[in-house]
Amino acid sequence: MSKYIANISDCCGCSVCLSVCQCMAITMKPNDLGFLYPCIDEDLCIECGDCKDVCPVLETNLNKMVNLFDKKAYTGYLVDNIELLTSTSGGFANAISKKIIEQGGCVFGVKYGDNFIPEYDVAYTEEELEVFKGSKYTEVNNNKLFECVKSELNVGKKVLVIGLPCVIASLKKYINTNVNINNLYLCELICGGYTSRRVLSELIEEMENKYESKVSSFIFRVKNPYVLPCYFQVGFENGIIESMKWNETYFEKAYRLIKRDSCYNCKFKNIELSYADFIIGDHWGSENQMHYNKYGNSLILPRTPKALALIDSLEEQFFKIVEVDFEEAYKYNHMLSKSITNLEGSNYLKEYFKKNSLKRACELYNIKLKKELEEILSEIKGERYNVALWGVSMGIDNMYEKYDMKNWNIKYIFDSSEYKIGMNCHGLKVNNIKDIHKFNKKIDVIVSLISSTDCVVLKKQLLENGWKGKTFYMGKYRFI
Ligand SMILES: Cc1cc2nc3c(=O)[nH]c(=O)nc-3n(C[C@H](O)[C@H](O)[C@H](O)COP(=O)(O)OP(=O)(O)OC[C@H]3O[C@@H](n4cnc5c(N)ncnc54)[C@H](O)[C@@H]3O)c2cc1C
Ligand code: SF4
Ligand code: SF4
Ligand code: SF4
Repeated sequence: MSKYIANISDCCGCSVCLSVCQCMAITMKPNDLGFLYPCIDEDLCIECGDCKDVCPVLETNLNKMVNLFDKKAYTGYLVDNIELLTSTSGGFANAISKKIIEQGGCVFGVKYGDNFIPEYDVAYTEEELEVFKGSKYTEVNNNKLFECVKSELNVGKKVLVIGLPCVIASLKKYINTNVNINNLYLCELICGGYTSRRVLSELIEEMENKYESKVSSFIFRVKNPYVLPCYFQVGFENGIIESMKWNETYFEKAYRLIKRDSCYNCKFKNIELSYADFIIGDHWGSENQMHYNKYGNSLILPRTPKALALIDSLEEQFFKIVEVDFEEAYKYNHMLSKSITNLEGSNYLKEYFKKNSLKRACELYNIKLKKELEEILSEIKGERYNVALWGVSMGIDNMYEKYDMKNWNIKYIFDSSEYKIGMNCHGLKVNNIKDIHKFNKKIDVIVSLISSTDCVVLKKQLLENGWKGKTFYMGKYRFI
């Protein structure tokens, strides 16, 4: 038996291998970044191979587990605004959970356990569902999941499980053919990966030191009217409740840059081969549609007849739902089909974090970025290059000042937004970035002011538009 069950870079940490090992030979241990990986005690292991058989990343015959695939998409939201505000997207997870409970079933969801470690639990009543609300963006303890789902199915209960695609896949593998799965409803969350428990525990420790009180509640995404996922809400035992902008804490950097290795090459992003009855997430792009709710919309992709039947059972006064164009919805939610990219800087931050606290790792990373930025700014300054800017955001005036742009040799400005093309910006007309190929000989450098830190995607976009020259990407130079 090899030391690893699956290749370490593929292992999604589902821990189903631990659940099947009769010899208790497997334990989940954190690596330097705090992500859990299975470790085999070779003295206890009898080399039966059960762990390999159940491992979802070693599954080669995906087709045998696949559900029906129907290109249907819906958008919707909970009608009760208070309920909607406490859900991450449009509250569809909560809506179907309540339906299953109403039908005498139970729901497996994720709540915060001790020390804010997210863990699976089961709810039999509507009240018990409350703790499941809200996405938990750090690694989950799945210990209570696999066996408990099987026991509930074995006693004939209707069971809904809500989870990340890799966990839903491992559960499907674990539930073998002897169990009646007609009563099982699987709901997959569209997934952009998670960060490690170590990240959150250090953040909480830092906040407790700062506020001199224990943290008593933590919400990752508190909704403001613009529904951007940019605020935490942290409650303390001394009664203080603080809302903090993601990008003003180290968490934002960690959530963007410190993800599990398997998430960069996720094996569970194939919507046609998903094991779930539903796939749900944020409905981006719904702003242009009649059924947009500023407090959040769920994107709902039902994949089986029983999923459609559950949708049909939702009363209009409880959950507003409407069918939308599948291709449009699919196009706007990149995480349905693509793995996250390993952003520039990710490896540096991870290396720093292996040997330092999160705070120190972020400080070291900032020092490195500042040095890089200074080098770029000193290179662009003056007459050496004909410069073009790409991206006219609201913050452009601040950037002019911050980066001393009046001393750059700016010749052209580009954007892709139809609202901005043609407008005047600091004395120059904003051109369509799609026309950049026409300017290849007139520009030496493009400075991308786009806030995205995903240089790979930005680079691809420029290449597609015919740009062949040098580019500086400024998106990652954000400091707290
Ligand atoms: C780590 C992570 C990354 C995500 N990335 C994206 C993304 O990139 N794009 C996108 O469109 N959507 C993403 N989502 C899904 C989105 O954040 C919402 O969870 C989803 O739309 C459901 O929202 P809701 O309003 O219906 O449910 P809510 O009322 O917010 O309930 C959330 C449900 O999800 C369960 N849950 C919460 N956290 C976890 C977890 N870590 N593991 C398993 N189950 C959990 C809860 O038990 C609950 O049932 C992600 C979710 C997570 C947990
Ligand atoms: S081979 Fe069998 S005994 Fe060994 S770790 Fe895997 S499941 Fe356990
Ligand atoms: S993917 Fe899951 S089953 Fe496979 S080795 Fe990792 S934790 Fe174990
Ligand atoms: S991105 Fe893939 S591997 Fe990572 S947590 Fe999500 S489903 Fe699992």
